[in-house]
Amino acid sequence: MEGSNRENPILYLVVPCYNEEAIILESASIMKARLNELIAKNAIGKDSRILFVNDGSKDNTFKLLSDAAHKDPVFIVVSLVGNSGHQNALWAGIMTASKADIVITIDADLQQDINALEDFIKCYKDGAEVVYGIRNNRESDGVFKKLTALSYYKIMHLMGSRIMKNHADYRLISRKVIEALKKYDESNLFLRGLIPSLGFPSEIVYFDTKERTGGETKYTLSKMVRLATDGITSFTIVPLRIVSFTGIITMLLGIAFIIFSFVEWVQGKNVPGYTTLLLVTLIMTGVIQLSLGIIGEYLGKIYLETKKRPKYLIDCVIQIEKESQTDD
Ligand code: UDP
Ligand code: MG
Repeated sequence: MEGSNRENPILYLVVPCYNEEAIILESASIMKARLNELIAKNAIGKDSRILFVNDGSKDNTFKLLSDAAHKDPVFIVVSLVGNSGHQNALWAGIMTASKADIVITIDADLQQDINALEDFIKCYKDGAEVVYGIRNNRESDGVFKKLTALSYYKIMHLMGSRIMKNHADYRLISRKVIEALKKYDESNLFLRGLIPSLGFPSEIVYFDTKERTGGETKYTLSKMVRLATDGITSFTIVPLRIVSFTGIITMLLGIAFIIFSFVEWVQGKNVPGYTTLLLVTLIMTGVIQLSLGIIGEYLGKIYLETKKRPKYLIDCVIQIEKESQTDD
């Protein structure tokens, strides 16, 4: 039934929010203005909404959002019980937006240029089911983030992952894609990898990024590392192959060393013992520990998947109905 409305689609802007009290109201009013412009231009349906997912914020975010949603039907708040993380918050929003023909996910800080929305929608109207927002510039990132991001894309690429370079989670997905996503009930969610792997026709929109206008990044180093390892372990088993490969290489080196020592011994030379032994032991313990760690990482993922725990728990949804169509 839904999904066929390509001319005048109902858009849900899904916005995950974690401790965003400093900027959330300003972002909300900018988003609302943009949405109204698009409705006025007939680019999207008038039942389009802005859906905030409060990801267990500990500050005043929920109160601010809840007040806004009580006053204005354009805002919907889905509040999660605890902090489930950016990816799970996005999932919660996408799954709750049941009336949407299209969902565009965007960060609460509006670092991603909201003016690109129109291009996203154009691509959808031209037939794309997924539209990826790709950032033009990385100036707003520090050296550390730039460097880690770059090496991450390199590593992912080497391992055969299809993730888009410089694409975070600013993207449009259609009803078709949402229905497909519902079939992927994995606990270790990595949307940036999952969505391209579905194979729907996609398009790219470039946009500029800005500095955060208030508050600070919610992506701590540990959250970034977790996202990065999730990205690898939930899409490829290449690291496991590397473990086996390292095993074979060290075994071959071992055999070569045995032959070498044997030849030396036959020739009556003295093979130095202590240093060689120490070096080999140290290196090998390192290799074994690392390999166990990699295997353990996958084992942990299997453990978590088998539990089939919900990705999020909804505490409450705040949404008032539009009484009449005389809005604005
Ligand atoms: N976020 C979230 N849960 C978290 C961490 C972040 O919902 O546990 C949201 C956050 O409020 C923002 C988006 O995810 O809307 C991206 O976070 P942020 O802007 O801090 O990341 P950065 O742009 O620095 O990578
Ligand atoms: Mg940000």
